[in-house]
Amino acid sequence: MRILIVGGGYVGLYSALRLQRQLKPELGRGDVEIVVVSPDPYMTYQPFLPEAAAGSISPRHVVVPLRRVLDRCKIVVGEVTTINHAKRIATLATLATEEGAAAEQLTYDELVLAPGSIARTLPIPGLADHAIGFKTVEEAIGLRNHVIEQMDIASSTRDPAIRDAALTFVFVGGGYAGVEALGELEDMARYTARYYHNVKPEDMKWILVEASDRILPEVGEEMGRYTVTELRRRNIDVRLHTRLDSCVDRVAVLSDGARFPTRTVVWTAGVKPHPILAATDLPLNERGRLKCTAELSVEGVAHAWAAGDAAAVPDVTVAEPGKETAPNAQHAVRQARTLGDNIVHTLRGEPLETYSHKYVGSVASLGLHQGVAHVYGRKLKGYPAWFMHRVYHLSRVPTFNRKARVLAEWTLSGLFKREIVSLGSLEHPRAEFELAAGGKAPEDPKGSS
Ligand SMILES: Cc1cc2nc3c(=O)[nH]c(=O)nc-3n(C[C@H](O)[C@H](O)[C@H](O)COP(=O)(O)OP(=O)(O)OC[C@H]3O[C@@H](n4cnc5c(N)ncnc54)[C@H](O)[C@@H]3O)c2cc1C
Repeated sequence: MRILIVGGGYVGLYSALRLQRQLKPELGRGDVEIVVVSPDPYMTYQPFLPEAAAGSISPRHVVVPLRRVLDRCKIVVGEVTTINHAKRIATLATLATEEGAAAEQLTYDELVLAPGSIARTLPIPGLADHAIGFKTVEEAIGLRNHVIEQMDIASSTRDPAIRDAALTFVFVGGGYAGVEALGELEDMARYTARYYHNVKPEDMKWILVEASDRILPEVGEEMGRYTVTELRRRNIDVRLHTRLDSCVDRVAVLSDGARFPTRTVVWTAGVKPHPILAATDLPLNERGRLKCTAELSVEGVAHAWAAGDAAAVPDVTVAEPGKETAPNAQHAVRQARTLGDNIVHTLRGEPLETYSHKYVGSVASLGLHQGVAHVYGRKLKGYPAWFMHRVYHLSRVPTFNRKARVLAEWTLSGLFKREIVSLGSLEHPRAEFELAAGGKAPEDPKGSS
């Protein structure tokens, strides 16, 4: 029999790990095959993205190679494009799928659907053309390079308008992704400014735009208020009750009437379930998440399972009816384990377990040695919170290999100066060679040989 896991993120990785451990004899005999389909051959530990953007962790250590960790599973790098669960068939587009070619089909017996979420965008003029998200390692590193590049632009121009736009950074959305990304990047840019003769930290404008009356709901109201005060103390312009109305022609226009010419708009205003869910015959709720039971099976459907950001799982720890578990890593990891166990229980004809976990709170980093935390009822600020953030995530990042590498990097960065280099040119690796090749064989203007 074949177990198909769609997605190689938190849920995909942890449920596959659980399954390959528990089904070792069956996998050995060839009775069971676990296939994991993921667009990337790695799982991204998203809570480390802000530190990767700040240069405190190298990009390779924020990701976990699926092939190495899931050595008894079959990894397919590609995307599932449709699922016909009634017929137990998924169609795939892999790197080898040629345009116009018939889609590959894969049959399965048990399905784990865990494609996570994507940025929840709004039809704001200019957003699709100019903004960047903050969900992938490529975006985090791209943003780091971009911020340093803006400082280089500002340093090399005499035009005050170009300089001003280069040094204005607008972040939209005050959840942990937005606040941590802004906190870490501002801190990195402030440090980097020491090495510029004509860019001072006070020349930069960092703006956080949040539609509601608070930021960081994950750490509670009091710690959220502290974070606003702390960011404002650092000269970060936090605007609550404010929306981004437009960013056409690289001018961010806010609902309070403010206008900021800028080359940087980072969109972190929430997530929505992955659109692949709509290309299945499985039941979705009104917000597009898969309707699930507390046992993590898809409601009313046999042999289909889901968890994480894509799944609407009833939160059995609260009395409020209809309440779902929040889309975060804390639930995703724990749900994945219960999901894996429940598939094994099903195969062995045993009773299923109910998923139950009370949210324990959150930790957030706001830059080097700065943070905020509200975990197990304890509230921490500043250095202790930042330290707790590091200890917590070091204990959570998968594999001993990654833990050791991240710890080594943190230790080294405590001994040496911070990295301030932008490797933006990595995004255009052929530029140098094209110049060389163009120089060697210039095009004949007359077309003669
Ligand atoms: C910057 C940032 C910081 C965060 N910090 C925290 C934190 O501190 N604490 C916390 O609890 N949570 C945090 N989160 C949230 C947490 O990362 C998510 O809740 C968690 O990743 C959800 O797990 P998942 O498995 O559902 O989705 P993901 O981990 O996103 O995995 C989904 C996977 O499915 C793949 N996929 C998508 N479509 C397809 C397809 N068609 N076919 C095959 N594969 C597909 C994706 O490429 C991805 O690999 C953070 C998120 C971000 C962006």
